[in-house]
Amino acid sequence: MSLLKLDNVTIRFGGLVAVDSVNLTVEKGEILSLIGPNGAGKSTMFNLITGIYAPTEGTITFKGERISGAKTHRIAAAGIGRTFQNIRLFAEQSVLDNVLIGAHTRGSWNLTGALMKVAPWVRKEEGELAEWAIECLNQVDLAHRAYEMAVNLPYGEQRRLEIARALALKPDLILLDEPAAGMNPQEKQVLLEMVKKIRATGVTVFLVEHDMKFVMGLSDRIAVLDYGVKIAEGKPEEIRANPQVIEAYLGK
Ligand code: ADP
Ligand code: MG
Repeated sequence: MSLLKLDNVTIRFGGLVAVDSVNLTVEKGEILSLIGPNGAGKSTMFNLITGIYAPTEGTITFKGERISGAKTHRIAAAGIGRTFQNIRLFAEQSVLDNVLIGAHTRGSWNLTGALMKVAPWVRKEEGELAEWAIECLNQVDLAHRAYEMAVNLPYGEQRRLEIARALALKPDLILLDEPAAGMNPQEKQVLLEMVKKIRATGVTVFLVEHDMKFVMGLSDRIAVLDYGVKIAEGKPEEIRANPQVIEAYLGK
């Protein structure tokens, strides 16, 4: 059974079909990347998976259960963590608090709320929660920054902080929306190794990224979206050589 399965998923915004009849699976333990031109529907797909949008048609199942139509906090509690294309941190809060208090997506997604109410394993004292948050920071090599203000972190570390926050719910699957965007080559290399390590802890990774060196160096499989349509899917070397992909994206 696939960890995540999109069956014929479509979403329309008025006349625009942002995601068009997409069939896609994410297998447990893999690193899958989604690539495609700007406006292809990549972030929208993540918004569908995490419940920010409900599909116009089709179904999404996670661990064999239907999640399409479910509320964002339910989906998070079921085991899907995510980061956003644009950094969403509390600049004036400590790094540690940013892991503990994640109020996302127009106020409808509250990590502490989710932690306390939904996930049974975190019915813990606050101290234990902080310990867990430090462990998450450790995974992105930021534990030594725990008591600094988020705004004082260099850009690359802020992006990693978002990953730590996504890990705080002990997700089975993590969705990373352009995690390397804006990073310099060295920061990208550090991030690449971190994502590999996160996968090695048993977390399945589904990411959107434009940097082809990053994508090719990290992914087990790649899916390609163009105008909402999945035009290709395969191993990095297959995608690199696919004429339709070169035409739609790589050739540009
Ligand atoms: P990508 O992440 O691949 O660059 P997006 O998923 O952000 O693309 O957007 C796909 C298309 O859907 C774009 O044309 C975008 O303008 C449109 N879109 C996304 N969200 C909405 C929305 N809430 N309402 C209307 N159009 C939207
Ligand atoms: Mg996007």
